[in-house]
Amino acid sequence: MADIIWQSPETEVLSIGPVEEYVWEDFGEIMGLVPCTQCGELVSKVYLRLSGDKAMCIPCSGYER
Ligand SMILES: [Zn+2]
Repeated sequence: MADIIWQSPETEVLSIGPVEEYVWEDFGEIMGLVPCTQCGELVSKVYLRLSGDKAMCIPCSGYER
């Protein structure tokens, strides 16, 4: 796999375009921990679940995963 990439022409593996503004989102100290609105436990954004308009940890949300 690495050889395929190394041996490919630059135009096939690189995409170079104009520089654009990027809105920086601060993910916090460790991958963006956010408190669960129900129990207050810190939850990584990846594991937050929405219940109505509230972001909760998986056990509080009722989702299985
Ligand atoms: Zn919770």
